[in-house]
Amino acid sequence: MKKNSNLIFILLFVAILSVGVLIGVIAGTHLFDLAFPQETISDSLESTSDSQSTGGAADKPMDQTPKKMIALTFDDGPSTANTKKVLDLLEQYDAQATFFVCGENVTVSTRSVMRRAISLGCEIGNHTLSHKDMKTLSEKDLLKEIRETNEKIALHSGTDYQCKIYRPPYGNINLAAMNTLYDNGIRMYSVHWSSDSLDWEYQSRYKKGEITKEAAIDGAFQTIVNETSEGTVILMHDIHEITPDILKLVLEKYTAEGYTFVTVSELFGLQDNAPKEAYFKRYRSTSSILDTTK
Ligand SMILES: [Zn+2]
Repeated sequence: MKKNSNLIFILLFVAILSVGVLIGVIAGTHLFDLAFPQETISDSLESTSDSQSTGGAADKPMDQTPKKMIALTFDDGPSTANTKKVLDLLEQYDAQATFFVCGENVTVSTRSVMRRAISLGCEIGNHTLSHKDMKTLSEKDLLKEIRETNEKIALHSGTDYQCKIYRPPYGNINLAAMNTLYDNGIRMYSVHWSSDSLDWEYQSRYKKGEITKEAAIDGAFQTIVNETSEGTVILMHDIHEITPDILKLVLEKYTAEGYTFVTVSELFGLQDNAPKEAYFKRYRSTSSILDTTK
């Protein structure tokens, strides 16, 4: 009897040790870029004024992912003409991307492009129903913006597609909004970006006649190049005329350099059911994206 209980103790000890090691391995890989505790977020906010360095877990840059992978992301669509051009290029280069769609753009007329994106292995994310600042919404409106978009994506996908991620419009999000979603059963990751093409700004300058189309395309491309390395999340918009041309340059350059283009979920190894306060932070020098004061 004594021998048996000793054996049970030893087995129990080994089991606990194994779980501990397993948690350590998971934390060291997939959860590397996730930020949870509030004090870590506060620490990181203090350090954001002085660039991309230092701090706790929240300050780990996205580009520390150890493989040559880039996540291309396209916001504000789908649009019939431009999203189609983007998908043609992705298919040509055997690349996957993530589309953060606005619910009000997901309709009978755009669902074929969304379905094609899914069939090419791309990911669909939620960019709210009507491109609202999530920090300013009432609880009721916040839930409506996220839930109705998820429902429209699921309905029009034809495959009951379930979104794992959302991108707050303007990058505006805070813990209060994140917790409202979580407390109401929404288990999604908030995903920002680490390289901003500024395609919308270059498009606007081109349309105003301030610069040529070629200069606009090249300007946005150089902006991306300056901020892109392994593990970067690139932000573009599949509603602008110049964006497919910018994308072509990006695909050419980084394919030649041996990069693969993956979805956000693949880049970060995201599982279903995001934990509480799970977000991927933007990494630009002077911006602080998570306002914890509201
Ligand atoms: Zn947007």
